[in-house]
Order: sequence, then structure tokens, then C-alpha cells
Amino acid sequence: MASRRYESTDVGRAFELAADRRAARAVTAKTVCVPRVLEIRRGAIADVAVLLAGADFPLGRTVVGTGGARTARIAAGVVRQLRREGTCAVVPAAAPTAEGVSRLVEAIRRCRAEVCIAVGGGRVIDAVKHACSLTDTRLVSLPTSLAHDGISSPIASLVGPDGRRTSVGAVGPDAVVVDLDVVQGAPPRTSRAGAADLLSNLTALADWRLAVERGRDTYDGFSALVAEEAARSLLGPGSASPGGSLETLARGLVLSGLAMAAARSSRPCSGAEHLISHSLDRLLGNRARLHGEQVALGVLIAGTAQGSLTPELAAAYDRWSLPRSPRDLGLDRGVVVEAVIRARETRPARYTILDELELSRSGVEALVEQAFATGDSRRRHGPRLSAAAEGDSARQRPRPRTSGVAPRTPRRRGP
Ligand SMILES: [Zn+2]
Repeated sequence: MASRRYESTDVGRAFELAADRRAARAVTAKTVCVPRVLEIRRGAIADVAVLLAGADFPLGRTVVGTGGARTARIAAGVVRQLRREGTCAVVPAAAPTAEGVSRLVEAIRRCRAEVCIAVGGGRVIDAVKHACSLTDTRLVSLPTSLAHDGISSPIASLVGPDGRRTSVGAVGPDAVVVDLDVVQGAPPRTSRAGAADLLSNLTALADWRLAVERGRDTYDGFSALVAEEAARSLLGPGSASPGGSLETLARGLVLSGLAMAAARSSRPCSGAEHLISHSLDRLLGNRARLHGEQVALGVLIAGTAQGSLTPELAAAYDRWSLPRSPRDLGLDRGVVVEAVIRARETRPARYTILDELELSRSGVEALVEQAFATGDSRRRHGPRLSAAAEGDSARQRPRPRTSGVAPRTPRRRGP
């Protein structure tokens, strides 16, 4: 049977009109950049050059940024692969400081590199991410641990001369390669921190909805959907645990990056719990714990204030052995209270549950006590945690300055 041909004048005209409509629609549609290569599997690192070459990455001149001894060893294998394709310069001990980023930028310019590969933890990836932004260079993210969602987000966390961290917009990765054998070899506390960072999407989203409800932000349903589904992948009895697959965690963290890229903001994955962690960074300086570890405490505080803690979240804390009180991180409770009091200063424009609370010292002390009650009770009475304990906490927690702080279905503002 002869194939039907669409060459009549009418059909051609209809096609032109449809093309015009598509062009007009592009004004309101959103374009999201996603990694051209995404590989999450065991042994992926051995195939990095093949994967990138197969996706037409120009590998003639590359720069690899690495971190400490462990990541430098892992990077050596990647460098060997890349040197079969052309020249490859290595920048060791890449750090997200002005000096660390400058060294990367200098190497990229000197080599006229078109691709820069970060082989390391969050600090290395942040440094390379920012250097790629400054030089418009393709970024390949090859995390050696799963400590936070920066492995694929378009946001870099930089450390200033005073030790303070600031988040800056950066390019998202053009490729993400997660070798599950490599991340499994990282210290277990790194994947615990990553799990907490992923779970924190839940309190962040509750804050986002609250901000929209109060007319302080606009909502992006797609980004929120992606961020929520990513976090929910860690809930429920069938979800990943440190003893099982890290693949779910890696996938969830990549999805968090996508949510932030779609929102063009960290909003879907960063609320009051992150402000508390940023505040702890400021107070503790180089004694700060891993970002995700601090966020784990922030989730309990923000969730208690929101009334959003659930038995499923408590079960996920159990499965991943997440910190439930400052003492689990060797921190004094007083420093956490201070961090909560000052948390809003870290990002005043981000409306969260903290904006609805009386942040007097006694009020915050009461809130913090409620938030960590289950962790302290577990320390005294063993690992059993009951949802009822959280219910009691919720009943006794300090009242918010305004009523109705529980997350609600957001209303869209404006047309
Ligand atoms: Zn985070």
C-alpha cells in the first residue's frame, strides 16, 4: 500500500500555522537543561571516556578536578582514560574557595579545555561547577560520595574567606556518572547525610506551600512534584537503606537537581531546615558537620514547627540511622538553639515556617526540646520510636505567631 503523502497546499498551510502556534507557546513554556549523559550503575567509572565520547563530548582537551587522597586515586583511572583521547590536566585538592576556583579557571583557560570533570565529593563538585560557569565549559559530575543533592544541581555552595558558605547559581552538569561501587566505598556518614538532604525536600516543600499561601512566593507544580517524588523514594518499607542499594538515593539526588533546575532556584529542596544548617555553618565555621547531617536536625525542628512529621519519615530516620539530636553529632544543644534564632538572617527573602514563629530564646528552646524529644528518649530507652511520641511533641510545641501553618494546597497567584 502506497504511503500517504502530506504535500497538499492545505496541509502545508496547516503545518505552518501549527509551527507559528508552537513558536508563540514557547514564550510561556519552560526549557529545562538536563544532563546529556546520566549513568548510575556499578563499574560506570571504567567507561567514563566511552560514555562521553559516545555523546559527542569533545575530549581532546580536558581538565579533571579532584579532592583528597581517596578521590585522587579514583580520578587517576579517569585521567588515564581521558589521556587516550587527548590532553588532560589535573587540578588536585579543588576547593570551593576563591583560590580553589581560580586554580581551576586558570587550568581550563591554559588548556583551552572544553570539558571539565569533577571527580570527588561535594566540595570538589561545587568548585568545578562554579569554574565551569565562569568559563562556559561543559561540566561532568562524577561524585565519589552521595552526601548531598549538589551532585546534579545548578547551584554551587562556595566558602568565603570568613569560612561562611554562600549558594550561587551555576551551570548544571552536562553529564552525571555515579559508580555505585565508588560511592559505596565512601564513609557511611556521607550517604546518611545525602539521605537526610533528600528527605528534607518534604519540609522544604511544606515551607514553599506556606510561602505561596501567604503570598510570599510563586509555585511551580512540576518542580514540586519532582522534588516530592524524589524524597518519597526513601519512604516506605521497600525503600533503600545503607545496607541495601544506594541506587535509590543516587536517583533521588539527581531528581532533586532536576527539581532545582526546573524551578531555577533551590526552593523545592531548601526551606527552614536548610536555613538552620546554614546558620550552624556560620556559628561552627570549620567545625561544622556535614551539610546533610545538620539538615537532618533542621528537618526535625522545621517539621515539628510545621506539624508535618510523619511516622514514615521517622521510619526513614531509623532505617538510615540519621541524627535525631545535637548529641548524635557531638554538638551542644545551645548552639542549635542559637542557630535557629539566627537562621532567618542567612536568607531573609526565603519565607519559611520560621517567619511565623516567635523566636524568643525560651520559645526556641521549647521548640528544640520538642523536636529532639524522640532522639533523647531513644538514647534513654533504646531504639524504639513510636509515632505517639511525635504526636505528644506536636501537641506541646510552641504555638506559631499566626494560625494555620500546616501545609495546604497552594493557590496560584495571578494569571
Ligand atoms: Zn541541601
